[in-house]
Amino acid sequence: MQILDGIKLSKEIKQEIKLKVESYKEQGKRVPHLGAILVGNDGASRTYVDNKIKDCNYVGFESSELILEDTITQEELIAKIQEWNNDSNLDGFIVQLPLPKHIDQEAVINAIDPNKDVDGFHPMNFGKMALEMETFLPATPYGIMEMLERYKVPTAGKHTVVIGRSRIVGRPMSILMSKNGNPGNSTVTLTHSKTEDLAKYTKEADIVITALGVPEFLKADMIKDGAVIVDVGITRVDDPTSPKGYKLAGDVDFENVKEKASWITPVPGGVGPMTRAMLLKNTLLAYNKNN
Ligand code: NAP
Repeated sequence: MQILDGIKLSKEIKQEIKLKVESYKEQGKRVPHLGAILVGNDGASRTYVDNKIKDCNYVGFESSELILEDTITQEELIAKIQEWNNDSNLDGFIVQLPLPKHIDQEAVINAIDPNKDVDGFHPMNFGKMALEMETFLPATPYGIMEMLERYKVPTAGKHTVVIGRSRIVGRPMSILMSKNGNPGNSTVTLTHSKTEDLAKYTKEADIVITALGVPEFLKADMIKDGAVIVDVGITRVDDPTSPKGYKLAGDVDFENVKEKASWITPVPGGVGPMTRAMLLKNTLLAYNKNN
């Protein structure tokens, strides 16, 4: 069994980006600029945005942060997005999800200029991804593709089973794994909560990608020997022995599944750090398109 080490790989990727930024500076060019909009005070969302800003600082990007009260109306939020759409100093920006319940998430995503949508959530970018055109890929599936590529995990002709069909992870993952390229060229089965006898599919899979958010859902008896296991799940579970009072759990019963797997991602330290690095890559792509 070999570990797909997202911490090591994301450091390498950030280092590559940092060197590029240094070379832009040496050439007298401006540096890439990422923005983040946060609505409200949710602790987890705050941490995600802080980490995005920290990553920008590390690689030498400029960053901007806009923190808005959770009482803001949808119209006011969209007006702020329009301002950022029109700001030529900003290469790309994200609106941290989830949004307060009174705001229509679809309307907000649709308001972002697709050329600045570095999260890759706008329908135009999703469509381009499905058509295998160059675009901003959603960061988590993008990070998994990058990981499979850099670790040279064979995917062509393999049977990939994805568990979960969300718009940000499972569904785009299934599209990317079936694309005509490397990584890709997999035969893909997309499963979800209505799938009957899910283990029937996972037992036949060469690659299983879990993105459902149910701790330790995938057990060793649900996979075949030598399968590649990619665990996207991150769930906080109570842990009185930890100073924080919780620990992060993946969707895979790691201790038992690792005995049968050929490659496996840990949680934490697998897909999560790759997701962070891919937002930086998308910002770099936006910058290069703008120049
Ligand atoms: P989501 O929007 O809640 O989607 C979950 C999907 O899993 C749905 O399609 C659901 O099916 C399916 N599902 C739920 N229970 C199931 C079951 N028992 N059997 C089969 N399918 C089941 O979640 P998400 O946003 O995709 O996130 C999934 C997990 O990944 C969460 O733990 C999240 O925290 C984590 N995550 C991690 C990263 C990272 O960077 N590592 C990034 C994003 C998300 P239905 O469609 O039928 O409801």
